Amino acid sequence: MSGELLYEGKAKKVYQSGESKVVIVEFKDDATAFNGAKKGQIADKGVANAAISAKLFQLLEVRGIATHFREQLDSRSLKVDWLKMIPLEVVVRNRVAGSLEKRTGLKEGTVLEQAVVELYLKNDSLGDPLLNDDHIRVLGLAGPELLSQLRTQAHRINNILQQFFEQRNLILVDFKLEFGLRDNQLVLGDEISPDTCRLWDQTTLKKLDKDRFRRDLGSVEEAYREVLERVLS
Ligand code: UDP
Repeated sequence: MSGELLYEGKAKKVYQSGESKVVIVEFKDDATAFNGAKKGQIADKGVANAAISAKLFQLLEVRGIATHFREQLDSRSLKVDWLKMIPLEVVVRNRVAGSLEKRTGLKEGTVLEQAVVELYLKNDSLGDPLLNDDHIRVLGLAGPELLSQLRTQAHRINNILQQFFEQRNLILVDFKLEFGLRDNQLVLGDEISPDTCRLWDQTTLKKLDKDRFRRDLGSVEEAYREVLERVLS
């Protein structure tokens, strides 16, 4: 990659592109879970996640959602708009899993008739705590208008993605989004991939996402490849 490295995260690197307010995101094969406590590599995860994200961002753009995506540059790299990121993780859930199972005691897989949206603070040292609207106000992260926009966009994106995955025999159990501002407009950033979504085969309920890595379920690479094939089909 030619440009200067601006930032290295757990799963991605961000480089300068040479163009103003445009950066290059490179997807790594590194995998982490439990706030970095578990580390590993998933062969060609970066290739799968770059292609899956590119396809889903294009789908969302066509459906009227503003995203940071510009173009895919190579098998692991996307050219995207630089955004002033909002340090919130917006989680959308259609079924119970993961931390919602722990928080509520509801059984994994329970269908949520209305999607549940949760906002977490993006802060590794605090362990990404769940925030309520008052916490968000106190932290000065978003006012009522921006909060309402975040929730509306999260639901819109969920409707589009749920339908897209359903057509590919996949259940979109839950997923995480990150947003930023571009010229004061709310824009979807980050990635949408099996690292950030729970996806289950609709017929067998087989997990085809990072839970295979988190829980040592095996066939991790195969799961990412399977999702890539279905997303591109
Ligand atoms: N998620 C994510 N990054 C995070 C936390 C969660 O991408 O830092 C995704 C996760 O893959 C899942 C959804 O958000 O699809 C909900 O995750 P949950 O709150 O259940 O936490 P987890 O069980 O992943 O710790």
